[in-house]
Amino acid sequence: MNQQELEKIKQKALEEHIPIIMDDTLEVMQKYLKEMKPERILEIGAAVGYSAMCFTKFLAENGRIDTIEREEERVKEAKENIKKVGVEDKICIYEGDAVEILPILDKKYDAVFIDAAKGKYPFFLKESLRMIKPNGIIFADNILYKGYVLSDYNKHKQRTAVRNLREYIKEVSENPNLETEILEVGDGLAVSRIKK
Ligand code: SAH
Ligand code: MG
Repeated sequence: MNQQELEKIKQKALEEHIPIIMDDTLEVMQKYLKEMKPERILEIGAAVGYSAMCFTKFLAENGRIDTIEREEERVKEAKENIKKVGVEDKICIYEGDAVEILPILDKKYDAVFIDAAKGKYPFFLKESLRMIKPNGIIFADNILYKGYVLSDYNKHKQRTAVRNLREYIKEVSENPNLETEILEVGDGLAVSRIKK
């Protein structure tokens, strides 16, 4: 893997205000993923491929990442980036809306990284639970959304997103098959381990 190219892609994404994974969030995920050595990771929200390329470092030999992105331009850029970094044999990009693509996927994953439309998190959770392996982990980024989620914020124009993020937290907390931590790293990260 070409680390220098990856760093350039990260800097360009930051300059263009593409919401790539934050360093401290990646650091926390790395702890779980290093220990897990996943064979399959599902990512919802690829953007320009940055987080998926970072995750390739933690894959088992022959491990693979499936990632979904709906913006045509970003898919194009992600594909170019993945080639530049030399990880094209490890990442498969599905182009389209995850709401349509997830229901037709029928694989099993060791880890899922939810990082797309906040208003769809409860749906993404439902689909992730269908495909996660026992002992797998579902991560959800931006779960605290600038602090709105745990405050009594209601008037914000993003209230649908906030309502659905709260719904996600409620569901993962109440599900007896999950062990969940809500971490205040980056924009908030939910980590839910599947007990069986
Ligand atoms: N995971 C990336 C950042 C993703 S940003 C990283 O850390 O490098 C969120 C991305 O999700 C955006 O590019 C957006 O276009 C995409 N997205 C949002 N809703 C989506 C949906 N319903 N289906 C597919 N992609 C979606
Ligand atoms: Mg994010």
